[in-house]
Amino acid sequence: MPRKSRQSRAKRETGTFRIEARLIIVAIIAMVGFAGWVWLEGHPEHNPMAPLDLRDPIGMATARKIAVLKDDVTACHAALERSEVAYTVLPPLADASGEGACARPDRTQLDSFPMGPTNPSVTCPVATAMVMWKAKSVVPAAKEIMGSNIARIEHLGTYNCRRMRGSGSSGWSQHATANAIDIAAFVLEDGTRISVLNDWDGGDAKSQFLRRVRDDACGVFATVLSPDFNAAHADHFHFDQSARWSGVCR
Ligand SMILES: [Zn+2]
Repeated sequence: MPRKSRQSRAKRETGTFRIEARLIIVAIIAMVGFAGWVWLEGHPEHNPMAPLDLRDPIGMATARKIAVLKDDVTACHAALERSEVAYTVLPPLADASGEGACARPDRTQLDSFPMGPTNPSVTCPVATAMVMWKAKSVVPAAKEIMGSNIARIEHLGTYNCRRMRGSGSSGWSQHATANAIDIAAFVLEDGTRISVLNDWDGGDAKSQFLRRVRDDACGVFATVLSPDFNAAHADHFHFDQSARWSGVCR
């Protein structure tokens, strides 16, 4: 065969090989994409597009899906309804700061949540996260680690019209709109009391329980502060739904 003809045949074969290789790559990408889509369909907790259902496990997309509800209270209440969670909407409260910082347009109260000493109203995203945290973390952790059921979750407060460091020019606390809750202790059905102040450092089952529910809270709240964060949180967990991406989990 003449040299020129051999060269052009080799060129044609190389071109065909390149096209086939590209087709194989495209087919692989399509298959991986399809497999990913099928997987996400079965795991709505990891799927940012799936509607939030509080009965789903806590997943990679959960905290983000709850955080965006801050700007859409109607959608937040719809998520509670979709998840068959009973709640009451309390009348809005006017601003107490004089600077517009402490108005409370969203006061959502969960109808049957084992909270003490009172059943407070909070923003809907905080209520939503509390429901999920209790069902997917606190209850199973109490059963697995403590061998009992949760009777009551004790809080230190939700609403407090104040700045972050008490006064001065620091930013307003998430408590100024009840977009936060401070959790101090857990009481089990067998009477056992687990408090952040007394049991955080015990190294025993109570300590293990507290650390697990703290870690899990990071999957549903934008900010989680515990005794690991600073001495001001030695006796409680602070949970809030401030801007997700500047949130702390410690
Ligand atoms: Zn707090």
